Amino acid sequence: MTTIGDKLQQVRTRIETACAACGRDASSVRLLAVSKTFPEAALREAHAAGLRSFGENYVQEGVAKIQALADLRASIEWHCIGPLQSNKTRPVAEHFDWVHSVDRLKIAQRLSEQRPAGMAPLQVCLQVNVDGGANKSGVPPAEALALARQVAQLPRVQLRGIMAIPEPAEGFEAQRELFLRATALFDEMRAAGLPVDVLSMGMSGDLEAAIAAGSTMVRVGTAIFGGRSYA
Ligand SMILES: *Cc1c(COP(=O)(O)O)cnc(C)c1O
Repeated sequence: MTTIGDKLQQVRTRIETACAACGRDASSVRLLAVSKTFPEAALREAHAAGLRSFGENYVQEGVAKIQALADLRASIEWHCIGPLQSNKTRPVAEHFDWVHSVDRLKIAQRLSEQRPAGMAPLQVCLQVNVDGGANKSGVPPAEALALARQVAQLPRVQLRGIMAIPEPAEGFEAQRELFLRATALFDEMRAAGLPVDVLSMGMSGDLEAAIAAGSTMVRVGTAIFGGRSYA
């Protein structure tokens, strides 16, 4: 049986190979382990194998795991990566370290207001809908810079960058082109003086194309934990 440690090693090798192919240093890409649907024991195994950043999509499930792994809290960074409704912001502000899926000002304002004073500012990425898919989450690219400027002013959140989930495309080059739209927006934000340093893109199936386009954080679930069952 392939253990989580073995699969993690394969993912690390993929990241290193992808970085080498485009002349990047492997340390410039962080690995976020997407643990949604997997039980506490799998996360403990992943932690023992060296993973320190976990991504959860569903607020309730994520908070339950943060509480179950409270003994490891100081050594884990918890990332909320799923779509956020405004009535779910409080538990996110109170428990998570990062949110990748902020796509409107109201959500960011609530997160900032609800972030407890004793905690570090919540680290935030704006989710950008780079395909323009009508029923997908994410701010439209044309509105991303304005939103970034507003979010950067909020006191209890810290703007870190962009998250994108492009539709699967036919082939490496087409996939890279979609990721490059997010990279272009990221570059635009930096040029505008915003202190962004994180480009969260790439998953199990497309992390090589994302790295070739400049990703600094890949979010990997299946390739580390195996297939998900939503039963
Ligand atoms: C589930 C999920 C992932 C991980 O996807 P895999 O294909 O299992 O690697 C990454 N990002 C988001 C936002 C997800 O919902």
